[in-house]
Amino acid sequence: MGEGEHRNQGPSGADDLFGDTPRRVRVLLPLPLAGAYDYLLPAGLDSPRGAIVEVPLGKRLINGVVWGEAAGDVADDRLKMVVRRYPTAPLPETVLALVDWVAAYTLSPPGAVLRMAISVPAAFAPPPPITLIAAAPPPPDLRLTAARRRVLAAIVDSPPRPLRELALEAGVGPAVVKGLVAAGALAEVTTPPPPAFAPPKPAETRPRLSPDQQAAAARLTTAVANGGFSVTLLDGVTGAGKTEVYFEAIAAALTAGRQVLVLVPEIALTAQWLTRFETRFGCAPAVWHSELRPPQRRITWRAVADGTARVVVGARSALFLPFPDLGLTVVDEEHEAAFKQDDGVHYHGRDMAVVRARLGDHPAVLVSATPSLETVENVRGGRYHLAHLPARHGTAVMPQVGLIDLRREPPPRGRWLAPSLSAALTETLARGEQALLFLNRRGYAPLTLCRACGHRYECPSCAAWMVEHRLSGRLQCHHCGYTIRRPTVCAACGSEDSLVASGPGVERLAEEVINDHPEARFMVASSDTVVGPAAAAEFVRSVAEGEVDIIIGTQMVAKGHHFPALTLVGVIDADLGLAGGDLRAGERTFQLLHQVAGRAGRGASPGRVFLQTHQPENPIMQALAAGDRERFLASERAARESAGMPPFGRLAGLVISAGDAATADHGARLVARAAPRLDRVQVFGPAPAPLTLLRGRHRRRLLVKTDRQVNLQKVLRDWLAPLRLPSAVRLTVDIDPYNFL
Ligand code: ADP
Ligand code: ZN
Ligand code: ZN
Repeated sequence: MGEGEHRNQGPSGADDLFGDTPRRVRVLLPLPLAGAYDYLLPAGLDSPRGAIVEVPLGKRLINGVVWGEAAGDVADDRLKMVVRRYPTAPLPETVLALVDWVAAYTLSPPGAVLRMAISVPAAFAPPPPITLIAAAPPPPDLRLTAARRRVLAAIVDSPPRPLRELALEAGVGPAVVKGLVAAGALAEVTTPPPPAFAPPKPAETRPRLSPDQQAAAARLTTAVANGGFSVTLLDGVTGAGKTEVYFEAIAAALTAGRQVLVLVPEIALTAQWLTRFETRFGCAPAVWHSELRPPQRRITWRAVADGTARVVVGARSALFLPFPDLGLTVVDEEHEAAFKQDDGVHYHGRDMAVVRARLGDHPAVLVSATPSLETVENVRGGRYHLAHLPARHGTAVMPQVGLIDLRREPPPRGRWLAPSLSAALTETLARGEQALLFLNRRGYAPLTLCRACGHRYECPSCAAWMVEHRLSGRLQCHHCGYTIRRPTVCAACGSEDSLVASGPGVERLAEEVINDHPEARFMVASSDTVVGPAAAAEFVRSVAEGEVDIIIGTQMVAKGHHFPALTLVGVIDADLGLAGGDLRAGERTFQLLHQVAGRAGRGASPGRVFLQTHQPENPIMQALAAGDRERFLASERAARESAGMPPFGRLAGLVISAGDAATADHGARLVARAAPRLDRVQVFGPAPAPLTLLRGRHRRRLLVKTDRQVNLQKVLRDWLAPLRLPSAVRLTVDIDPYNFL
C-alpha cells in the first residue's frame, strides 16, 4: 500500500483533521506586543476563551491564552496552527477581564500583564498520579518469609498506602515490598495525589469579640453574605483587633463555599499572621509570593485553579491567580506603598484588587490604622463603606508620644540618642521591658567621605552614595547592588586613615547601644540581617518570647507585629522621610511613624514613644504627638485639593532614559515637544530625575497632571503612540506614580 492510499483511509487520516474549515482564534502571548495574534485551530480541538495553548512564534513554541474568535482578515495559509491545548481549565473570565483592564489602565501591552497570570507553566498539566500499594489475592505458590508475613499482615483489610509507609510499618526494607509486588501478592494502584491544602474550618476557634469588634465584623459579614461588589474600609487603631475582625469575614466567605484572597504588603513578615490563621481556622492557608520555590509555586497555582486552595495569603502578584470562585478580597495595610509595582507593569495592588472585586462582583475589605487619603476620600464620598474600631483591644491603651527637639536637645557629639531618649531606654531596661529604636537606614553609615580631600564615595552607575555596611566590610549601592570592599586608602587623594563614616545607619546605632548597655541583649533587624521568611519568623519568635531587650530596626520592624512586652519606641530621625518633597512624603512619614509608635504598649504596660526631630512645629509631628489622625488628614486633604493632586486630580510620571546624557536629553525633548496643549492638562518638565543616573542609565522626568474628569490614559495614548523615539531611548509611563525618583 502506497503512502497516498494510506492517507485516505481511516478516521484518523489528515483529511479528517483538516476536512472542516478550520476555526480561527485570537491568542494573546505573554510578550510586550500590541495585541493578540490569530491562529488556526485544528478541528476537534476545543479551545474556548481562556484556554491555555501552545503556539508557534517564529521558530519557537510559546504558551498563550485564547482571547476569543479571530476576525479572519488574514488568509488562512498565512496563519499558523495551534499546537496543543493544556489540560487545565480555561482562565476564569474575571482574570481575562482583569488583564485587559490593567493593560488599558496602566498603558501596558496586554501580553505583559498576561505574563503575570500564566507565570507557572509547570502547573498547566495535572499533577502526576501517585502509586500506592494495595492488598491482592496471594498467588498459591507464594514463598512466605517472616518479613513478607509482616507486610501482608500490615496491609490486610486496610486501604492502599505508599510503599515506604508500608515498609516502615512492617519493619522491613522497601525491597521486601517490591518483591511481593513482583510475585503478585501485592498490587500497585495509581491515584491522583491528595489535595495540597486542607480546607480551613470556619468555626475552629472563634474568639469572643468585644461589642465594637462585633459591630465591625457584622458589617463585613453582611457584605459577604449579600454578595455583589462592595468595598469596606476596616479602620481601627493599631492593636484594635482588625485581624480578628476580618477573620470573621473570611469565615463567612468560607461558609458560603467561596475562595478568599488576602493581600499583604510584606509576605516575609507574616509569621505571626500565619500562626493566628492556623489557630482560628485549624490549618494553614496557601501562601503566594515571589520567593516560593518552584514545586510549591506549581502546587499552589493548581490548587487555586481547581478550587482546593480556599484561602490564599499573598503579595500583590496573587491578584493574577486563577481563582474560579473568589468571594472575598482583603487588602491588609492598604496604605502601604509596597503594593505599588514599579517595574514592568506599573500597577497598584490595592487598586487592582478593588478592580478585580468589581469585575468578579464580590466584596473587598481594605484594612488599615492609617488609611490612604485616596481610601479616606472614597469613604467620605460614600463610594466605600466604613467599619470602625475606635480603641485597642482589652486593657491596652494608645501610647504617649513625645517630641524631642534636636535643636534644643541634641545628642552628645558622635552619638545619636538625645539624653532624654537615652534615659528612657535605661529606665525601660531596668523594668525588664523591651525597647525598639527605629531608624530607617540600613547599614552602618549612609556616606563615606575623605577628611583630607572631601572625596565622597558614589556608585559609578547611579547618582547615589555608597552605603557602608561594616558587618560585611563593604560599601554598597542600595539602588543597583554594586559593592566594593571598604577602602582603607582614599581613592581620590591616596591618604591613609582619612575616610570617615558620615551619619548613622542601624549598625552604627547598635554600637552606641552596646556601649551604653553592654549587658542588654540586642538585635539589628533590617533586610540585611533578617533575610527570608524563616529568619523573619525566628526574629518575631525571639522578640515575642523575650529573648531580646533592644530591637534596632528599619521599616521591616515597623508594622504588624504584636510584642506585648515592648513599651518604648524611639525614632532616631523622624524627619528622614520628609526630605525630597515627593507628593506623599508627608503621608508616608505620618503612616510609618504612627505604625512604629503603634508597636509600643500593646500589652498590659502602657507604651511611650519619642520622636527625635528638627522640626517639632511641623504639622505631621504635631499630629503624631497629639495622636490626632483626623487633624493630619484634614491638612493633607486641604493641601492636595488646592494643588489639584491625587485623589483630587490625576498624575502620570514619564521617565525617559538612555545610556548617555545627550541621548536622554534628546529623547526627553522629543517627548516634550509632542506634548498636547489641552485644557485641564498640565505637563511639567522635562527635568533631570532626582536619581539622574540609575543602573547606568541617564534619566529625565516629565509629570502630567490633569483634572479628575480628564481621561488621562487617552491623553497619553494620543500623545505617545505616534512618537518615534530613537531605539536607545526608553520611555516608561507610570500612572498615579508613588515613586518620584
Ligand atoms: P490590629 O491588627 O488592629 O493591630 P490585632 O488584630 O493584631 O490588632 O490584635 C491585637 C492583639 O489583640 C492580638 O494579639 C489579638 O490576638 C488580640 N485580640 C484582638 N481581639 C481579640 C479578641 N476579641 N479576643 C482575644 N484577643 C484579641
Ligand atoms: Zn581623599
Ligand atoms: Zn548603583
